[in-house]
Amino acid sequence: MAMMAKMATFERLESDVRTYSRQFPAVFHRARGSTLWDEDGRPYLDFFSGAGALNYGHNEPRLKRCLIEYLEGEGVLHSLDMATVAKRAFLERFERVVLRPRGLDYKLQFPGPTGTNAVEAALKLARKVTGRPDVVYFRNAYHGMTLGSLAVTSNPAKRAAAGVPLPHAIAMPFDGDLGAGVDTLAALEPVLAGAGGAARPAAVIVETVQAEGGVRVASWDWLRGLRELTRRHGVLLIVDDVQTGCGRTGTFFSFEPAGIEPDLVLLSKSIGGCGLPLALVLLRRDLDRWLPGEHNGTFRGQNLSFVAGAAALAYWEDDAFASTVRAKGERLRRRLDALVAAQPHACRSTRGRGLMQGLVLHPPALGAAVAAAAFERGLLIEAVGPADDVLKFLPPLVAEPREIDAAVGIVEESLAAVQDGAEPARELSCTVESSPRIDEASPF
Ligand code: PMP
Repeated sequence: MAMMAKMATFERLESDVRTYSRQFPAVFHRARGSTLWDEDGRPYLDFFSGAGALNYGHNEPRLKRCLIEYLEGEGVLHSLDMATVAKRAFLERFERVVLRPRGLDYKLQFPGPTGTNAVEAALKLARKVTGRPDVVYFRNAYHGMTLGSLAVTSNPAKRAAAGVPLPHAIAMPFDGDLGAGVDTLAALEPVLAGAGGAARPAAVIVETVQAEGGVRVASWDWLRGLRELTRRHGVLLIVDDVQTGCGRTGTFFSFEPAGIEPDLVLLSKSIGGCGLPLALVLLRRDLDRWLPGEHNGTFRGQNLSFVAGAAALAYWEDDAFASTVRAKGERLRRRLDALVAAQPHACRSTRGRGLMQGLVLHPPALGAAVAAAAFERGLLIEAVGPADDVLKFLPPLVAEPREIDAAVGIVEESLAAVQDGAEPARELSCTVESSPRIDEASPF
């Protein structure tokens, strides 16, 4: 079926607000590990990973088995925020595997099951606890699409769609925004201090790597400086680890190597194990000033997500898995650095941490063009940043090294095709299986 015909139902019935079905115009059917198959059995290497919701890959067999057993055992699926066996198992495992080994003593709040819900809850709590309305965020930040989180998200088009003012949010330069060697914290300090009689903010919200903002990395020193400044001025530090957390950057929490302890930490995406919705606010014990029901919601903690999420924490019992993420991140980075060396006119630089790596392209229009050409060749990859000029490599953390090499190879081929002005490939450059058997190994 021609591509347009395949997408007809979605175009006719689904709102124009959809994005990824336009960037990746295929009707996906099955998935395993790093591979998605469309309904015709064409394989696609997934270096998008549900924007970070699939760190353990598609249909991870052990997680799937736990879900099937839970379903077959008539496990409770929905329970608002009632106590369930599945929730207790998640809480206890999270404490044992994640919090205790890191010497952390956070309480856990389950807001609605998406990243933006975690951001909303954290902003509301920070304002309640401090009694101050303003929150500092950084240029190119992305924290979500509901009004509170949109107010601390930079993208002008997305802000404009709010249709109302987005007050009580102060944009400040991120690390590196004012040029190499310029300390952007110097500009932040007077704001935190309430200089000139201005009201001090309640909190600063930060991503350690701005993912949607173009894979822009905050240095460890900058993060330590931010922690020190916020503490000194009595301003809460919220780390949004929605995309960078759950091992994406090479440690469970992205901020671990900085040695800092944020006041609030936000997790979502892969915390639900295998793409199931779940979000988590970790809050310093003394900040838990919520009154019962003060931040409510019907879907606060989904039992299937607890089951898969708890099972996925098995990856974090020791450092073995994290060290494979770091090693594969270095491999990816080396391959991308080689591309920059070979094609300096088009590939400006690489940046990132762990298995979140960005390739900065020039001119900026190359980003979307190369991503589209890569899709034609069987690779899902997203162009991010304010000018969509950065290809964001976000493989599942369980991706095989050869899949990393294959993805870089497809990008290299796509770059060449786009620069030659060649027609996009009509055939996938990988082996096409007509009838996928998802228990088979990845074809890449
Ligand atoms: N924070 C960050 C850092 C994110 O990357 C995202 C999603 N891309 C969100 C918050 C919002 O998460 P959600 O789309 O689940 O609301």
